[in-house]
Amino acid sequence: MSGWLGGIHVHRMQQGQVPVVDFLCTSCWHHRRVTGHRAVTDLVASDPITQHKTVCPAREDHP
Ligand SMILES: [Zn+2]
Repeated sequence: MSGWLGGIHVHRMQQGQVPVVDFLCTSCWHHRRVTGHRAVTDLVASDPITQHKTVCPAREDHP
């Protein structure tokens, strides 16, 4: 995987479709997917990257 160091990937949806966001940590390959306007809004607002760094089992590989 090149270029993407993990984080949030927002899938662009057509009008009227349910939005989908993937969160991926490329250190531990933790993956989480949320669907739906509310869940997506909440996920993005909660800054999942920063939150995950506090619990990432591979964080010590990236000082
Ligand atoms: Zn991680």
